[in-house]
Amino acid sequence: MNHPQPVERMIESLRRLPGIGPKMAERLSYHILKAPADEIVRLIDAIRAAKSLIKLCSRCYTFSESDPCDICDDVSRDQSVLCVVETPQDLLALSQVKKYNGLYFVLGGALSPLDAVGPSDIRVEKLINRLKKDTISEVILGTDMDAKGETTALYLSEQIKPFNIKVTRLGYGMPVGGDLEYADEMTLAKALEGRREM
Ligand SMILES: [Zn+2]
Repeated sequence: MNHPQPVERMIESLRRLPGIGPKMAERLSYHILKAPADEIVRLIDAIRAAKSLIKLCSRCYTFSESDPCDICDDVSRDQSVLCVVETPQDLLALSQVKKYNGLYFVLGGALSPLDAVGPSDIRVEKLINRLKKDTISEVILGTDMDAKGETTALYLSEQIKPFNIKVTRLGYGMPVGGDLEYADEMTLAKALEGRREM
């Protein structure tokens, strides 16, 4: 016996989410069917509200309620230091580090030749344009410490050096293979402090 058609549709939609396999999609769907209606309405409303209220900051490309976001809009921050990260979640993790007072740029991913993700699939050109336009004295490469993040950091350092901008990489207080977004504040503070020139 198959799932009723509307349930099949729900399972298919949930399966498209990252980290959700067929079994998990099925389990979530039946949980949704069993749950009180108002609970599910709240979930749907929250998703709809977030989708409509949150936009991309046109300077750093993080998700924000305002454009520019609060960080880009903060004139008390050091406008000459730019930390490049892969995702908005990475930016959020680093923003917990009080000592860092510079700005950010979200690439929207990392280079991965094996998955056919090249420079045009992430915001390399937008980053370069920003470096041409703004007066940046240091770019901190805060991509993840895994193979993709290292490949991206190396590629970006080669692209940025001709601009005579100091390029640094987060220090190796970071666990190798580590995803920035899951690192705690202390680790990130040390990694920032221990950044080394590329
Ligand atoms: Zn911003």
